[in-house]
Amino acid sequence: MDEALASLAAVEQPALLEETKARYLGKSGLLTERLKALGKLPPAERPAAGAEINRVKVALEAAVQAQRERIAARQMEGQLQAQALDVTLPGRGAGTGGLHPVTRTLQRIQALFHSLGFDVADGPEIETDAYNFTALNIPENHPARAMHDTFYLDPTHVLRTHTSPMQVRYLEAHPPPVKVIVPGRVYRCDSDMTHTPMFHQVEGLWIDPAATFSSLKGVLIDFMRRFFEQDELKARFRPSFFPFTEPSAEMDIGCVICHGEGCRVCSHTGWLEVLGCGMVHPNVLTPLGIDSEAHVGFAFGLGVERLAMLRYGVNDLRLFFENDIRFLKQFR
Ligand SMILES: [Zn+2]
Repeated sequence: MDEALASLAAVEQPALLEETKARYLGKSGLLTERLKALGKLPPAERPAAGAEINRVKVALEAAVQAQRERIAARQMEGQLQAQALDVTLPGRGAGTGGLHPVTRTLQRIQALFHSLGFDVADGPEIETDAYNFTALNIPENHPARAMHDTFYLDPTHVLRTHTSPMQVRYLEAHPPPVKVIVPGRVYRCDSDMTHTPMFHQVEGLWIDPAATFSSLKGVLIDFMRRFFEQDELKARFRPSFFPFTEPSAEMDIGCVICHGEGCRVCSHTGWLEVLGCGMVHPNVLTPLGIDSEAHVGFAFGLGVERLAMLRYGVNDLRLFFENDIRFLKQFR
């Protein structure tokens, strides 16, 4: 029996263990043979011999079970060691992402206007013809509709061509005084170095007795100086035309690339056209039930990509939308 116990304890493989077990306890195992031989013993010796065989059988079965558990435990331990992680090793270095330059520019614009007391609102990109044009004093057959290269979804719905419809929507929901900017995507059928079918605008609207034309100039000049971090940045306002403002103006700033010397970006004029603006037209206010004699105010709309291109010195607008990681990485 000692020999049997010793050989069981030495077994490491589960299959060998079963084999060893069969050698002693199996159908033709040693112990089974002894049991069969019991009948040949003198009757007086049988009970004692039978009891002894049973005792050995129980002991061997217990030993087999114990060894089975030992082998399983050892296997588990080996497996755990093989799969162990060294938590002190350095990581694989997932590259950190960054905000898209257009997003950064939008956030910068919002922060600057927020510091001047402007709220931020959001509006729908699918707009009705009525809000996109008619309510902004652009009636049907007005030539300004042709200027916009509009994407029509159906005869009465468009992808908004500018953020200006939000002037009307915002005033419908908020009686004056209002002071708000509306950043968002706008769409036009247009694609070249300086135009993409989708781009971002920020609309501004300030209706308040204080919102005079000189406030308009003050707010926008202050914004541009802080946006480009140039305290001495020059600005000028040229008369222009928009159906929904009167008077209307285009704002130019001194070229932020060459500082007025003349370069390719400013077409050697020293000036950059940056936004359109003007006093809100009575034809926009009156249909909303707002007395245009009592309420004055101004509106402006600026192109986000245009400002981003100037600030970062990017010369092709399409780079912003091709999502080439080598380009985007530079703005992290
Ligand atoms: Zn220039």
